[in-house]
Amino acid sequence: MILKALWARLGVATLLPVALVTMTLTPIFTSHLDDQVNSKRLATEAIMTSEYDKLLQGMNESFNQALATAEYPLLRRFLAGPASSRAAEWDTAAQQDWAQLEALFETLLTHYGRYTRMAVIDTHGREWIATSQAPPPARPPVVHRDATSAFQRAMALRPRDLYISSPRLGATGEDGSTASPVIDIAAPIFDHQGERLGVLLFTLDWSRITASLSQTPLGDGAKILLVDAQGTSLLPDGEGQKRSRFGHSLASQWPAIWAAMAANQQGVITLDEYLLGLRTHDIRTHHYRSQAVTIVSDAETQPWHLGILTPRPSLMNQLIKTPTQLLAIVLVYLLSVAFGIFWVMSDHRLRGLRQRALAFSRKARQYAGEVQDLYEHAPCGYHSLDSDGRVIKINRTELEWLGYRGDEVIGKRYYRDFVTAETRAAFDAAFHQVLGQGKEGAAECELLCRDGSHLPVAIKATAHVTEDGFQYSRAMVFDLSERKSLEMRLERQALTDPLTGLGNRRYLENQAAMEIARAERNRAPLALIAIDLDHFKRINDAHGHDVGDLVLQSFANTAKQQLRAGDVLCRMGGEEFVVLLPDTSRDQALQIAQRLREAIAATPAEVGHATTVSETLAYSASMGVTLVSAGESTLRPAINRADQGRYAAKGAGRNRVEWEEA
Ligand code: GH3
Ligand code: MG
Ligand code: MG
Repeated sequence: MILKALWARLGVATLLPVALVTMTLTPIFTSHLDDQVNSKRLATEAIMTSEYDKLLQGMNESFNQALATAEYPLLRRFLAGPASSRAAEWDTAAQQDWAQLEALFETLLTHYGRYTRMAVIDTHGREWIATSQAPPPARPPVVHRDATSAFQRAMALRPRDLYISSPRLGATGEDGSTASPVIDIAAPIFDHQGERLGVLLFTLDWSRITASLSQTPLGDGAKILLVDAQGTSLLPDGEGQKRSRFGHSLASQWPAIWAAMAANQQGVITLDEYLLGLRTHDIRTHHYRSQAVTIVSDAETQPWHLGILTPRPSLMNQLIKTPTQLLAIVLVYLLSVAFGIFWVMSDHRLRGLRQRALAFSRKARQYAGEVQDLYEHAPCGYHSLDSDGRVIKINRTELEWLGYRGDEVIGKRYYRDFVTAETRAAFDAAFHQVLGQGKEGAAECELLCRDGSHLPVAIKATAHVTEDGFQYSRAMVFDLSERKSLEMRLERQALTDPLTGLGNRRYLENQAAMEIARAERNRAPLALIAIDLDHFKRINDAHGHDVGDLVLQSFANTAKQQLRAGDVLCRMGGEEFVVLLPDTSRDQALQIAQRLREAIAATPAEVGHATTVSETLAYSASMGVTLVSAGESTLRPAINRADQGRYAAKGAGRNRVEWEEA
């Protein structure tokens, strides 16, 4: 359970710092990224504008050169003169014109370098002048196949109109060099009367015009695109820039980019991975920039789309490009996670400690409770007294003995007040010892309880002493009432005859001293009767020992009934008894003895079914009576005398009383 909670907390400690760091870093990186995208966008826009302008400027120059050349008077004169007649009829002037024109074209071709071919074609399709980087065509003029399309389109144009073809692959060089793309610029040639004389055809080296596009430094992963209305790539193949090959379909190579180009006129468009700078240009509207009246082109190829594709700055690219930044971020994440884990672990340790401390304090409280419970309910009393003997602490057991509440006693009562006057001296002495050198004291005394009863106790106390001296006394109080009653019972047993419950010989001796002293003090007579049951042996023999015991008990009961409260009846042993009669004269003693003898003879012992004859058994006793003489300190002489009387009674026939004089 604890482990599960720890894992959960560790999970939070990992995720939370990651989330916090991410939340903090995200806006910073986002704005940084936005700045980068914006600057890239501006750069793209700037490059795009500059490249677009260069491209148009390059084409413009060619268009204007074509227009100017088409209006060149020498060319008109040549076409109106010799070219309209048969070659054989050329005169010298015509030949000179032709030579001049060819020299002019040659100059244009070499001076500008952007043209691969220049040709003049008459209205019949005959090519009169042809200057080319390739070897010149054969003479006499023939219809030039390559120029057919441009020628025919130009033949339909009005003065100062232009036909511009879409870029196409030019003728393969005779030396086997690869054909490079070209565009045809065709201008109609008219004379002053507006009569159509032919067509001027310039073949423009397309890679010259687009050279700037190919050479612009665009940065890593950037692409430059120029496509026609069909999505066909118009840029010549070249080294360096990654781009679509000439004549390839951008639509099938990069459909998403083509879709974006086709759908937008201009601007910078944000794609998933790229920024696309875009310009759209229709060559047919080019006359606003050139001196042409109308520009005609192949409708299906217009407009052209110029695009610059630069990789869109992304966080990942950014980080890969700057490993120190990546390292710093990883470090921030690691540190935050480590801090979270460290925090959870130390918190976990603290929790563990707190739980252990709680458990420990719970145990300590429980233990203290148990100790307190033991103190309060111990089988003995506990109390503490200050140096004046005032109760400062007392347990419940002792309070219950005393019958008081704690608030009635603690701090209010002196302990010696609970001690009976008779035993207070013992207590005071013991307390004095506790306060003194011995620091210990013990006393047996009696406590005075609220209900008036006395409780015998043993108190054992010690002093609690510190460097500052006596602080308080601590005492254990033991209830002695049981021990006392046991002692009393034992003492009683020692003085009692167990069969009859009468006092025994020792009891008589104890009582004798007291009675003799009292008799002396009071000058009162003290009589003594010695009693012996008659023929008791026979009873035992005839009916058994148990019946004999019953007879002895019966005698005790009958005798007690006949005697006064102060008379002392004791069993001396066997079936012999003695009665001590305080304050009794000779006559009174004889009377009592006679009355006793009669009662015994008249009261048979109840023996139940022990005898075969009846349930009772009659018996008798013989007695000797005497007085304890003044000056006799023990009973011995009187007992001897009474025994003499008893023997006399036996001798005289038993069931008799005999006086024996001192
Ligand atoms: P006498 O009339 O001369 O006194 O005759 P006796 O049979 O009483 O003679 P004696 O005094 O010699 O006999 C006492 C008898 O009492 C002897 C003893 O067996 C019996 N006896 C003594 N103590 C007890 C006792 O506790 N119980 C019973 N059942 N018999 C006892
Ligand atoms: Mg006897
Ligand atoms: Mg006898």
